[in-house]
Amino acid sequence: MAGHLTGGAPVAIVGAGYAGMAAAVALAERGVAVEVFEAGPVTGGRARAVHTRGNAYDNGQHLLVGAYRELLGLMRRVGVAEDALLRIPLEIRYTRGFALRELPLPGPLGLLAGLLLARGPRLGERLGALRFLRALRAQDFRLSADCSVAALLAGYGQDGTIGRYLWCPLCVAALNIAPERASARAFLAVLRDTLAGPPGASDLLLPRVDLSRLFPEPAAAYVQARGGGVHLRSPVRDLDALRARHARVIVAVGPHQLNTLSPALAFESSYEPIVTVYLQFSERLRLARPMLGLDGALVQWVFDRDALCDEPGRIACVISARGPHLALAHDVLAARCAEELRAALPALPPLVGAQVIAEKRATVACTPGALRPGTRTVLDGVYRAGDYSDPEYPPTLEAAVRSGLRAAQAVLDDLAHAPA
Ligand SMILES: Cc1cc2nc3c(=O)[nH]c(=O)nc-3n(C[C@H](O)[C@H](O)[C@H](O)COP(=O)(O)OP(=O)(O)OC[C@H]3O[C@@H](n4cnc5c(N)ncnc54)[C@H](O)[C@@H]3O)c2cc1C
Repeated sequence: MAGHLTGGAPVAIVGAGYAGMAAAVALAERGVAVEVFEAGPVTGGRARAVHTRGNAYDNGQHLLVGAYRELLGLMRRVGVAEDALLRIPLEIRYTRGFALRELPLPGPLGLLAGLLLARGPRLGERLGALRFLRALRAQDFRLSADCSVAALLAGYGQDGTIGRYLWCPLCVAALNIAPERASARAFLAVLRDTLAGPPGASDLLLPRVDLSRLFPEPAAAYVQARGGGVHLRSPVRDLDALRARHARVIVAVGPHQLNTLSPALAFESSYEPIVTVYLQFSERLRLARPMLGLDGALVQWVFDRDALCDEPGRIACVISARGPHLALAHDVLAARCAEELRAALPALPPLVGAQVIAEKRATVACTPGALRPGTRTVLDGVYRAGDYSDPEYPPTLEAAVRSGLRAAQAVLDDLAHAPA
């Protein structure tokens, strides 16, 4: 796929992350030739495979949900096999204490029964959670004014045990920001589409292949098979020169990379990090579940990469959002994660290695009222795509894909109306 900047196709796409590749597939599907230019050596952007010191990792453990309708649809269309994801009914289980599992019952009954039977919170709190969901449903999961998730939870009496083990971890996992700073509107959009969505919407989907293979690489093959080009190690440094060669340009770079392309596109935001600490144990292992929560620890979730991706003896520890861990040296952080894991799961084999991958700008801060720039830009023929631009969703893979599809549709609309 390596290449260089050559023109020709009517549409150029800058960035081969999930947003750029979604746009490329949507256009290729409609018979529009595209050229994708990617600065890095692989496709995938902030969700990509990383090769370091002879080992392969993801740049960070990712989790999808059944509500990722657009991404799952595109994955099917570019030929990603069903078993690239492990699908399990919603289950939030800690190594100790709280456990909630959606039961196999029709419609919303599965979740309601799961909440009623959840291990940990008192019955009064479990019933309160059901009332909370009913109240949200009655207002169609909308708020007249945005506020923080913490304020929303406090307003509905959801800030006790159920908040600590269910709502707050869901908020950090889905929005990558602490509940005190998180947008309640974005949180409710996620709850609407998952917990109150159609059957399967709240299922957890755990990747069984690396993040480049999960979508961007098959997407690139799909685009190339339809006459398009995907050029790796091809940073676009001169947007005007690209515009001179291509009638339409979709800019699908990360938000902090926009101003290097054009000051007119610059986007001001603050960012939240995600740190993934891969711990390597001496022998193959099996956790009780492929994904487990850790309570009262730096590490929020652990993923069994051995069981999921056939990476023998490897566990991924995830720490989302800001926190004191960012001040720790990587070896100290890895040792701390290993300690926390061993305290929760004493039977683990000896630790033989660790790899820390810290993404300091994992996502834009999804705060109340945060600006979401639209698809069209101030530059003629230049369109925007990227996880930060979705009108309602938090910055996620699904938001990235939706934005790519919107940009592709805007290009198609404009091409249809362009003078012959
Ligand atoms: C560690 C981590 C964990 C995450 N976990 C989850 C999760 O569990 N679930 C979930 O849904 N989301 C998760 N996310 C968020 C998700 O990865 C992002 O929302 C998504 O990948 C963003 O895609 P994008 O295409 O909008 O941007 P990007 O992935 O940033 O793509 C932009 C691309 O543009 C390229 N580029 C930049 N400048 C140029 C240039 N001048 N020329 C050419 N190319 C250029 C970049 O190299 C990059 O490949 C996580 C993110 C991180 C970092």
